[in-house]
Amino acid sequence: MLMVENDSFYEKYELFGCIQCGKCTGGCPVSLNSPLNIRRLMQEALVLDDLESIYQRDDLWACTACKTCTIRCPRELRPSDLIIGMRTALIEEGHIPKTVIEALESAYKYGNPWGAVKNKRSEWAQGLDLKVLSEECHAEHLYFVCCTAAYDTRVQNVARSMVTCFRQVGLDFAILGNDETCCGSEIRRMGEEGLFEMLMEQNAESFKALNVRSIVTTSPHCYNAMKNDYAQDGLVVRHYTQVIAEAIEKHNPFSKEMKRVITYHDPCFLGKQNGVFDEPREILKSIPGVTFIDFDRSREKSLCCEGGGGRMWVEASDQGPRSAEIRIRDAVEMGAEILATACPFCLLTLEDAVKTTGNEEKLKILDIAEILVEAL
Ligand code: SF4
Ligand code: SF4
Repeated sequence: MLMVENDSFYEKYELFGCIQCGKCTGGCPVSLNSPLNIRRLMQEALVLDDLESIYQRDDLWACTACKTCTIRCPRELRPSDLIIGMRTALIEEGHIPKTVIEALESAYKYGNPWGAVKNKRSEWAQGLDLKVLSEECHAEHLYFVCCTAAYDTRVQNVARSMVTCFRQVGLDFAILGNDETCCGSEIRRMGEEGLFEMLMEQNAESFKALNVRSIVTTSPHCYNAMKNDYAQDGLVVRHYTQVIAEAIEKHNPFSKEMKRVITYHDPCFLGKQNGVFDEPREILKSIPGVTFIDFDRSREKSLCCEGGGGRMWVEASDQGPRSAEIRIRDAVEMGAEILATACPFCLLTLEDAVKTTGNEEKLKILDIAEILVEAL
């Protein structure tokens, strides 16, 4: 029987409890476009007796860590954790895609998975005159920017829009500047538990040293990691949509009319995994002139964009339509002019899909923070 840490897969993931009902595979966003069949994997894992048998399994890298399988399982099993456990076993033996190795090495060396140098992390904020937390400089909230928002030239606009939004609602915030380090969310989901723990400890120490009590994040992935994986005592972690929704209830500065039809894509790490469904919708509906329409597959049933779980660093298989492309076609069919989201990975995967489906003229992909800036 294959052992993982001190337990067998059989015990750790309660494989014996699986009744092979298939609800997990039925909800899996990659079951139709990749070889991954999570129901079958639960069964096959029962008879694994050596690591050799999982070395050749490329299907493990198709998982987006959306957790739909775990949420849907009637036996309360954790099929998504089984995949991460298997990835951990592969990483320990060095059987991982080259692109994943590069992302992990970059996170270790530079504190981000994008291969970008550390002393350029805050270049996105040039000219914005932001406070940087230090022993001398304090603020009520830490704005945790995220590696993708800090370095990706498209997502940097989201970070800059966020600053405008925070200033409009009067939030007292500061950033960590070049000292910000990857939250480790995707590192953990790629299976590199040791590196995740190192990044978590680095962040936790710097929050403690700077007396950080409240964190506001751009990304649902940083939000989820710091809220659920770190679980640091006395630390309040919120996604920016929660903070903005609360602020505009008292005073809404985003009052310029926008006669646009907008729909919203729920990021899995914000919606399904943390129940933040209402706040993004409340923000969009509060903009005068906006007609808000929801997808049929929204909220708990929302379709994953396939950008999470390390998939930004894994070649996708071409077996079938990408979920993000299905999302784009559904949005265009509904008559949406803007597809809003609130996650850097969703933004990038949806924007790529709007191009590959040839819908750039019909549909714009924007983060909610960017839409709010247009409403000023
Ligand atoms: S939903 Fe749960 S019980 Fe059903 S096949 Fe999947 S893992 Fe097994
Ligand atoms: S976490 Fe999501 S992508 Fe991964 S197996 Fe489960 S449903 Fe499929």
